[in-house]
Amino acid sequence: MLNIVLFGPPGAGKGTQSEKIIASYGLTHLSTGDLFRKHLGEGTDLGNLAKKYMDEGHLVPDEVVIQMVEHKINTTEESKGFIFDGFPRTTAQAEALDVMLGKHGMKISGMIALDVPQDILKERIKERGKTSGRADDQDEEKINTRIKVYLAETLPVAAYYEKQGKFKNINGVGKIEEIFDEISSVINSY
Ligand code: ADP
Repeated sequence: MLNIVLFGPPGAGKGTQSEKIIASYGLTHLSTGDLFRKHLGEGTDLGNLAKKYMDEGHLVPDEVVIQMVEHKINTTEESKGFIFDGFPRTTAQAEALDVMLGKHGMKISGMIALDVPQDILKERIKERGKTSGRADDQDEEKINTRIKVYLAETLPVAAYYEKQGKFKNINGVGKIEEIFDEISSVINSY
């Protein structure tokens, strides 16, 4: 079983590369951002709760995220493994994920981080905002908040996996296919 954490700042290309990984390796996509947006679209209580954090570029509280992920893992049958996209975003989430996977006799194979400089991230997010309809993609201040939150709260998650010898950083700037080739060679080494 392959359980991969795809890591990187907002706009790094996690969603794009996740799609390619799923197509090649048949993994189950678990994007917390997508799950929250689905709830939002359906107007559930969880969606309404998450909205106020998401719209401002802040993180949704850990216990809410963890519960949602646990539900998805527990209700997914017959999977070759998961690609975790946008999760874990805090060290507490990473610790909770290890516990959840352990209950199913699973573990994280590795974390793959996409490295992209800040100026390129901002350009990509603003470009995406023209078509994504996402409130958090369309406002300079919200974009800056998300990058700040990433640096303060999410970056320590990389150290969590590095300590376990499970961290690999790759260049996230270049052709989508070339980045995917790099990712594939890391996955094939697991
Ligand atoms: P991006 O990577 O472009 O920031 P995502 O779709 O991953 O976009 O996340 C959008 C928003 O959803 C985040 O800014 C945050 O408010 C919320 N969110 C997503 N995943 C998490 C998570 N693991 N923990 C807390 N909040 C999350």
